Amino acid sequence: MPLYKEQGIVLRTMRLGEADRIVTLFTQGSGKVRAVAKGVRKTRSKFGGRLEPFSHVDLMLYRGRELDIVTACSTLATFRSIREDYSEFAAGEVILEATDRVAEERERNVRQFMLLLGALRALAGGQDPASVVDAYLLRTASLAGFRPHLRACASCGRPGPHARFSVAQGGLVCDSCRTATAVRVGESTVPYLAHLLEQEWAVRAPDDARREGSGLVRAYVEYHFDRPLRAWAHVPR
Ligand SMILES: [Zn+2]
Repeated sequence: MPLYKEQGIVLRTMRLGEADRIVTLFTQGSGKVRAVAKGVRKTRSKFGGRLEPFSHVDLMLYRGRELDIVTACSTLATFRSIREDYSEFAAGEVILEATDRVAEERERNVRQFMLLLGALRALAGGQDPASVVDAYLLRTASLAGFRPHLRACASCGRPGPHARFSVAQGGLVCDSCRTATAVRVGESTVPYLAHLLEQEWAVRAPDDARREGSGLVRAYVEYHFDRPLRAWAHVPR
């Protein structure tokens, strides 16, 4: 079994027997990796508390057929504040869940990795958790090939603004292209989402625009990823 070095972020952990754990990591160079951490649940474990969700770690791993084995681990960032603040934690859970959904096992995706690291830094840095979630989901959808159209009609390309948004059609739609699935949106909502998609992790916007925007992001991501985001409902908005 070849030994290799990686850095990654812990997405989740699962008990394995009395003392071990299966750790799911999203790594910079090898995509999603599932690995066994032996003895991690013993009090005198050589891994200490380093392999917890959100932790950014440097690792040595043995490559296995299905599961790898963690042989050494050191911490690059604990992101402890995310675990200790309810809003940050709830937002972080959505971010990890969405990453787990889109990441392919053993398939390098450096842009997604950097996006994840950026989102955790933004959260830990005190940016508004709900906005960071929305920005992360919009950008993740884009990297996965489902970039929402927020400036021009998703169907014919006619420049906006347009008053309706269709999850199924891929974003804003003009009056000629809209189907029955398109919903009317407030005029600040789409500019708010465009800012999160293209620029910063958080931005001031009216509460109703933020709420409506978050609802659209959730519907959009669940539609295109073909799966509900369970953790989404726990994020305070
Ligand atoms: Zn159109």
